[in-house]
Amino acid sequence: MSRHVFSRGGEGLPVAARGSGAEIFDSDGRRYLDGAGGAIVVGVGHGVASVSEAIAGQARQLAYVHGTMFTTDVLEAYADELAPLLPLESPWIYPVSGGGEAVETALKMARAYHLARGEDRYLVIGRDGAYHGNTRGALDVSGRARLREPYSPWLGPPPHSTALHTTAPYEYRCPFPDTHPEGCGERHAQVLDQLIVEHGAGRVAAFIAEPVSGAGLGACVPPADYWPAVEQVCRAHGVLLIADEVMTGFGRTGAWFACEHWGVRPDLMVLAKGAASGYWPLGLAVASDQVHQTIMSGGGFTHGFTYSHHVVGAAAGRAVLAVLKQLDLVQAARDRGAQLDAALRDELGNHPAVGDIRGLGLLRAIELVSDRQTRAAFARSDRVVERVVAAGTARGVLLYSSTGCADGRDGDLVLLGPPLIIAESEIDELASLTSAAIRDVLG
Ligand code: PLP
Repeated sequence: MSRHVFSRGGEGLPVAARGSGAEIFDSDGRRYLDGAGGAIVVGVGHGVASVSEAIAGQARQLAYVHGTMFTTDVLEAYADELAPLLPLESPWIYPVSGGGEAVETALKMARAYHLARGEDRYLVIGRDGAYHGNTRGALDVSGRARLREPYSPWLGPPPHSTALHTTAPYEYRCPFPDTHPEGCGERHAQVLDQLIVEHGAGRVAAFIAEPVSGAGLGACVPPADYWPAVEQVCRAHGVLLIADEVMTGFGRTGAWFACEHWGVRPDLMVLAKGAASGYWPLGLAVASDQVHQTIMSGGGFTHGFTYSHHVVGAAAGRAVLAVLKQLDLVQAARDRGAQLDAALRDELGNHPAVGDIRGLGLLRAIELVSDRQTRAAFARSDRVVERVVAAGTARGVLLYSSTGCADGRDGDLVLLGPPLIIAESEIDELASLTSAAIRDVLG
């Protein structure tokens, strides 16, 4: 029982003791199949010796120097190894301590870029239902009503804050149903275009979006015409495109980075989670060569954190990258993802409370509804997904959840994102335990 820990999960949490592969064991020796890597964090699996040894070895040799005073061989090597994989031209990598910090860094880079070009652009456009983090700037560009609500006096709309919001592709509840089956990408792009024009292109610094939406809307894969159209709108107005790949990066969707599925070339990119697979709190803000050169020629970047450019973080990231490559976990995410999708459809495709099963690679979501015909969400007061997650834990499977996808408040999502090393047999186990947990609650 916690006496001094300001807990996130309340009373009665199990005590986690160790992990191995896609399994976690608590202090009573109980096994849990890790169906979500916590918050879709763990790519290479738990208990990987090469990663923990790299971290320990680096900490023994040198644990910390300040980013303004030194660079280090391990950081330079990590950036050199990562750069060719990133979908940006000659990328420049700014390591920080997590996704929220990386988002803040990218937002400031966008502003710094325009200032260096002599333009006072400060507005940033995010999307409805998006999640970019809980730091204030990241929450401002996020579009999740429940997370924003207590802090609303600090957040949008302008002139109060700097964030605007546009529509997000969410096919199950598409704001433009008349466009299907062709695809709603053009319509989303038009809305974005109008928003930019309405507020003045000379004031809009950036558009930030998850290539495949993560925690907020739950693994929504945009139609094929979405990204090309949206990218074109950004280019036409000189608005920088920030791809938030905190959840989708490092193989999660079956490509190194989800941008690759549509050939998107962002100006800025934000990474975390899979970068160090949870072994170290590592985030990365990445700038294209053009953005970097412009900022530097304009006098440099006013920003920084005590723990940015962390030497042990770089060792962790480098070791994780090596495992991802050695085990070809990008391909594994494709293969196991297809298997999980098929198994979930098999188990749950006809369940009356399962409205939609969606996702890409090993990022999957199940949207639960009270009526499949009308797609009506359960009332929030029913706490449906919380009960499903609890039922899963009781059965020995760890699931992630999200609420509010339907209207900002209602809407229950079960999110699945197991470690990419998950075995074939464990995928079947994950699907059947998830199905059992849903049936425990919804029959
Ligand atoms: N961006 C996305 C897409 C995320 O999914 C998250 C976290 O879930 C964040 C940003 C924030 O990352 P962190 O929790 O490391 O601050």
